[in-house]
Amino acid sequence: MNMIDPFGRTISYLRVSVTDRCDFRCTYCMAEDMAFLPKKDLLSLEELDRLCTVFIEKGVRKLRLTGGEPLVRKNIMHLVRQLSRHLDSGALEELTLTTNGSQLSRFAAELADCGVKRINVSLDTLDADKFHQITRWGHLDKVMQGIDAAQAAGLKVKLNAVALKDFNDAELPDMMRWAHGRGMDLTVIETMPMGEIDADRTDQYLPLSLLRASLERQFTLTDIPFKTGGPARYVNVAETGGKLGFITPMTHNFCESCNRVRLTCTGTLYMCLGQEDAADLRAPLRASEGNELVSDAIDEAIGRKPKGHDFIIDRRTSRPSVSRHMSVTGG
Ligand code: SAM
Repeated sequence: MNMIDPFGRTISYLRVSVTDRCDFRCTYCMAEDMAFLPKKDLLSLEELDRLCTVFIEKGVRKLRLTGGEPLVRKNIMHLVRQLSRHLDSGALEELTLTTNGSQLSRFAAELADCGVKRINVSLDTLDADKFHQITRWGHLDKVMQGIDAAQAAGLKVKLNAVALKDFNDAELPDMMRWAHGRGMDLTVIETMPMGEIDADRTDQYLPLSLLRASLERQFTLTDIPFKTGGPARYVNVAETGGKLGFITPMTHNFCESCNRVRLTCTGTLYMCLGQEDAADLRAPLRASEGNELVSDAIDEAIGRKPKGHDFIIDRRTSRPSVSRHMSVTGG
């Protein structure tokens, strides 16, 4: 029953973008003036549940809800509650979430009650003014309250920060000390050329090899084999006792171990974050009450999962490598 792609990689991890909408407008992620999908194009929560269930029956063991901002989708907890039955049955090993944290104070306890054990919170700075500047619409205090609520509910929180040149690079050592001091791991991410934004990505892009070299002047970093199922490579930081992850889609391609596919809120399946090719699962889902058609469509799509992405950020390449924004497929 397992899904195995042409390069022998077993697909066991599904990321589901439940909405393309977000209550932030992070400058490296979206243009300020974004056109979102009309509501009529969205799969219902029941349809999303049905698709996720088919994937789980076909061997998915980890499922991450993302977006857009997953917690702004109306009645999202209904989907989380529904999906939690697969945790109860043991079919699913982990149900998790990537969030900007803005709605966590409302939902943290219920997430924990549904069997969610750990979440990723995206946070690029601890400075309230800079936070407002980078998110355009966000407020740091709300996110902090959300993180407090998540930890109080017993959720393990990992922070994700996109490393941005001349924006947060100088602050990352402090962010790491702060995160580790509160028992949270931190992962830094290289910005990827996805979708048109208002800024120039060449100005923002910071290769993590440079960041690591600079951190190594202050900290003792030791590579460790720790894995959470995603693409991050981790080090232990002797001085803080915490873990720091590096996600390096630009400087160190990690595609050889890719175990993931991504489903959007319209039922489009992307077999690679960094390629345009996709498969429509909505039509086969709606064409019959049984799941055979959709299962066949998934097999066909996995059969053309590409070897990897080839992102480029440089001054000669003005167009993004893929036209869709990160908010379509989520992180
Ligand atoms: N709203 C949720 C959140 O904030 O985590 C989930 C969706 S958001 C698109 C997922 C992650 O992608 C966030 O950590 C965000 O910072 C990151 N991201 C967005 N655009 C990116 C880009 N162009 N390159 C790298 N990471 C990006």
